[in-house]
Parts: sequence; structure tokens; C-alpha cells
Amino acid sequence: MKKSTKLFALLLLFFFFTLCSGFSSPYEGEVSVFIIDAGHGGKDPGAQGFELDEKDINLEIALGVGAKLEEAGREVVYTRKDDSYLTLNERCELANSVIVHKSGYPLFVSIHVNSASSASASGFEVYVKNDDKLIKMISPEMNPMLAIKYSAYKPSALNSYKDERSKEVAESIVKEVKKTISDIKIRGIKKDDFFVLNGTWMPSVLIELGFISNERENNLLKDSSYKNKLIDAISAALLSF
Ligand SMILES: [Zn+2]
Repeated sequence: MKKSTKLFALLLLFFFFTLCSGFSSPYEGEVSVFIIDAGHGGKDPGAQGFELDEKDINLEIALGVGAKLEEAGREVVYTRKDDSYLTLNERCELANSVIVHKSGYPLFVSIHVNSASSASASGFEVYVKNDDKLIKMISPEMNPMLAIKYSAYKPSALNSYKDERSKEVAESIVKEVKKTISDIKIRGIKKDDFFVLNGTWMPSVLIELGFISNERENNLLKDSSYKNKLIDAISAALLSF
């Protein structure tokens, strides 16, 4: 092969790989930092059941899951570690500005307990954002360092990559909970316009642990061994990312 032809082939190969990497999901590989969000807190108790406030269960599970991830050597950022009040916007701002020290991508996990007017409503479910909803993705105002990394992507592409990965995380959580806990109804994966799912640019899921308005599930959520099973299942699922 002539020297110039060789150079041309090399250049072609270089552009091919650059093009390929430009179009592959930035949410591949290992999660570099888990952002664990215990829903509600402080003056906002969340749903209230039989002598239980949602905010307390959310915090207990969030801290338990975070501890398991940290034990495994993974980086965790908490939106709250105590009974403090944060607005939904403050939670998103914190997540969006998180510093990522390693390669990989951040993952946002919000933890909640459900409530319904019907006392019979029960079960475990995980929410992801609606995939037909185009949200504002990362901007330099949110996170100047990471905005550069993600600037090559169109917001619509980032939206679909976020949705794709969020769904995989949700599927894994549901699968682990199904495997670990036999006495819970699995409602599956749902899509909805939750503020924290639409307000964070990284893959994100919102877990509803059970219904505080259902006396049986309310009592399960008071039981430490049951809560430990939830912590084990959720953290095992997250550790696979
Ligand atoms: Zn809630």
C-alpha cells in the first residue's frame, strides 16, 4: 500500500470511530456516582399512614441503600441525610451539579412511599419519565465540567439515552425485589411526569416502596427485617450498574 493510501485509510478509520463514539450512549459503563434522594422531609411529612410518616421510611431506606453502595466502594451523594426540608427544585439542582470524579455517569434514585384513597391499593412500583417528554438536558449553568462532555449530543438523543438507561435500572430493581420479597404485589414499571424525573438530566428512577394507606403494607414498612429486604434488593439491583 502506498504511504498516502495508508494515511487516508487511517484517517478514515479515525473518523469512523469518532462518529461511532459520538452516537453511542454516554450512559454506558459503570455508574460513577449514585444520587440517593429520600423523598419529602422536615415540614413535609409526605403521605401519612397508620402512625407512620412517609418521610421517615424514605430516609431509612435511602440511608440503608446508600450504605450498601458505599460498602461496595461506590460513590454516593445524598439529597438529605436527616429530617431536613428540600424543595423538589433544590433536589434537582443538587443532582444536576454533582461533581463526577471518574468516567461513567451519575444515576438519580428517588425513594418514596405511595398512598391512595382506596385502602386496598397496594404494591411496589418504579417510575421513569415519560419517553415522549423532551426535557432540558445538561447545560453549562448546571454543571460546566460535564456540559462539555455531553455537548456533542443533541438534547433529543440524550433524552432517549436517559429513558433507555432509566428503564433498565427500573427493570433491574423490580426483578430483584420480586426475587427477594415473596409477600409483595409487584405493580411494575410506570411512566409519569414527576418533577425529579423531568428535572434531572441523568438516568433517574423513582421508587414507590408500597402503600402507607394499606394497613398490611403500612405494618410491613414498620418491620425492620422487611425494610432490610427492600434495602438488599434495591442495592443489589443498583450495584449491577
Ligand atoms: Zn412521596
